[in-house]
Amino acid sequence: SDSHFPVPISPSHVDFSLHYPQFSSEVSCIKKVQFADIGCGFGGLLISLSTFFPETLMIGMELRDKVAEYVKERILALRATNPGQYQNVSVVRTNSMKYIPNYFEKGQLTKMFFLFPDPHFKEKNHRRRVISPHLLDEYAHVLEVGGIIYTITDVEELGEWMKTCLDNHPMFEALTEQELQADPAVKLLSTATEEGQKVARNGGQTFQAVYRRIALSL
Ligand code: SAM
Repeated sequence: SDSHFPVPISPSHVDFSLHYPQFSSEVSCIKKVQFADIGCGFGGLLISLSTFFPETLMIGMELRDKVAEYVKERILALRATNPGQYQNVSVVRTNSMKYIPNYFEKGQLTKMFFLFPDPHFKEKNHRRRVISPHLLDEYAHVLEVGGIIYTITDVEELGEWMKTCLDNHPMFEALTEQELQADPAVKLLSTATEEGQKVARNGGQTFQAVYRRIALSL
């Protein structure tokens, strides 16, 4: 249960210099985590993003203790075998549905990723979905204006659900086809993670929804 892992009482209580030792002088003054991979699983996306955006600090959030531990070890091993690389990527074990505001300040993030989240098919379990009207309020809070939320799933019904939630939220708008094509992160959605690779191996279809955080016009 949640009592088994520490929860920072506010973003200023997270010691990110422990996560990014090579950036630590910058982390304490100016540099902040900008990408969050929610339910990062085994960390494939983070590893790909790390070399693509070497100056951007990014973090995975994972609920399962052993999986988070695996990602941590994976990153440490990559740092050891590739000196100077993978210094910008880390992971925390936490329940992202409860503790996002404990980790990130208003407008801090530029990208949030939700790749192949658990579907929770039954109607009564929809409130457990990581994209919901209520949680989108939180994501809008921690994303900067212009920041981007990326979602992908192989479950059509969940894809429709995520798209509908985002379409109905006043602080998000869909990226245009042109913008999707130009964004290097979009190309990673179906290829970089372990779950995405499994779906691709099995020839499964995927459904993505990529939206920008916009200012609320009153
Ligand atoms: N994104 C990864 C991928 O594409 O390979 C993992 C996908 S896996 C189907 C969903 C992951 O979300 C699991 O690792 C699960 O433990 C994690 N998860 C589920 N609920 C979560 C929560 N509330 N907070 C953090 N992680 C969660």
